[in-house]
Amino acid sequence: MVLAQLGGSISRAIQQMSNATIIDEKVLNECLNEITRALLQSDVQFKLVRDMQTNIKKIVNLDDLAAGHNKRKIIQQAIFNELCKMLDPGKPSFTPKKGKPSVVMFVGLQGSGKTTTCTKYAYYHQKKGWKPALVCADTFRAGAFDQLKQNATKAKIPFYGSYMESDPVKIAAEGVERFKKENCDLIIVDTSGRHKQEAALFEEMRQVSEATKPDLVIFVMDSSIGQAAFDQAQAFKQSVAVGAVIVTKMDGHAKGGGALSAVAATKSPVIFIGTGEHMDEFEVFDVKPFVSRLLGMGDWSGFMDKIHEVVPMDQQPELLQKLSEGNFTLRIMYEQFQNILKMGPIGQVFSMLPGFSAELMPKGREKESQAKIKRYMTMMDSMTNEELDSSNPKLMNESRMMRIARGSGRHIREVMEMMEEYKRLAKIWGKMKGLKIPKKGEMSALSRNMNA
Ligand code: GDP
Repeated sequence: MVLAQLGGSISRAIQQMSNATIIDEKVLNECLNEITRALLQSDVQFKLVRDMQTNIKKIVNLDDLAAGHNKRKIIQQAIFNELCKMLDPGKPSFTPKKGKPSVVMFVGLQGSGKTTTCTKYAYYHQKKGWKPALVCADTFRAGAFDQLKQNATKAKIPFYGSYMESDPVKIAAEGVERFKKENCDLIIVDTSGRHKQEAALFEEMRQVSEATKPDLVIFVMDSSIGQAAFDQAQAFKQSVAVGAVIVTKMDGHAKGGGALSAVAATKSPVIFIGTGEHMDEFEVFDVKPFVSRLLGMGDWSGFMDKIHEVVPMDQQPELLQKLSEGNFTLRIMYEQFQNILKMGPIGQVFSMLPGFSAELMPKGREKESQAKIKRYMTMMDSMTNEELDSSNPKLMNESRMMRIARGSGRHIREVMEMMEEYKRLAKIWGKMKGLKIPKKGEMSALSRNMNA
């Protein structure tokens, strides 16, 4: 999970505070000090952390809170809100619309993950029914065109570039023109990077921008630089009209929190984060669901969005109907495992469920987790229809579990473990009972309900 360590430390601090018999100044201070330490370790700017602490103390005035007030809840909510405020970067200057041609230009330093991110961005939109295309105007880095070509071919996305032409402005203009003619609705231009911010880079960016008239300029930044992201984001903003930011490598760096908050402090809207080297390790950045996940509270909107990606369209209404009726059966769990194994990436889906990523799908152990899920499915293959279609775990008594263990060649302990996993999932999914079935694009309302 993204920023698992930071999230873990903050939620532990909140938990400790919640466990205290009496919430007084001392308990609150201890909790806030723990959170401060965790944020500073993540390289969040000292000023931001200090402001956050002051704000929380202002909101949570223990003396003014009459007895009977739920202090724990008020403190938790204040921490949640302040973290959201710290990471909230605002809205991008432009949001491309499906079916309407848009040009999006990517800029950033060399090695930031710009080329990889261009393809991820294209692939993300392609899966949602867009017609993206990639233009390689990076003539500075040897191999940039080959890399883009390779990625684009893998994702079956049309691309344009040249081995012979050395003028990036010419390539960019030609590529954009060609894909406009081909009715692509998202034309992505990858520009050159440099090792550091230098005049030549900014001049080239300006020229490519002049020639392609992008609707949106996306600045790609590596999160491992932590709070130094502030200066980098400012420098790019001053040289080109940055309308949105994508922060990469959020998977492997303790400083990710620092980078995100630093970018937010420059009021540059982060729209996606990169969470790995693979094409689909790419997530929409939306501050509230992000903080929810950070604190182990889950991210229902992201999860529902993923359902739309991984569950075949024809199964979605039926599945959501069953869930809204509160019928999370073993058969549904089986079918979801099937879908997820087929379409992956499994870790991303489960990390959006509260408490799940750490237990069922720990990051970096996806192979083991997949094996576990396959084992569960083998056991479920030995179940009767009555067992699969029941949402009453009490039906699964010891003799049934013995039979399933024998039938699947597993130990009864494993069947029991699977049933525990089922009960936990059923509890979480049970929250969907009675909810209006959302259509695509209606996820935020659902998210608000689930996180309430
Ligand atoms: P560019 O020079 O800015 O175009 O950077 P590249 O796209 O070539 O990426 C540089 C390196 O960063 C490559 O090894 C990528 O695989 C890697 N990379 C890009 N994004 C991510 C990410 O989100 N997570 C991780 N772990 N690696 C990434």
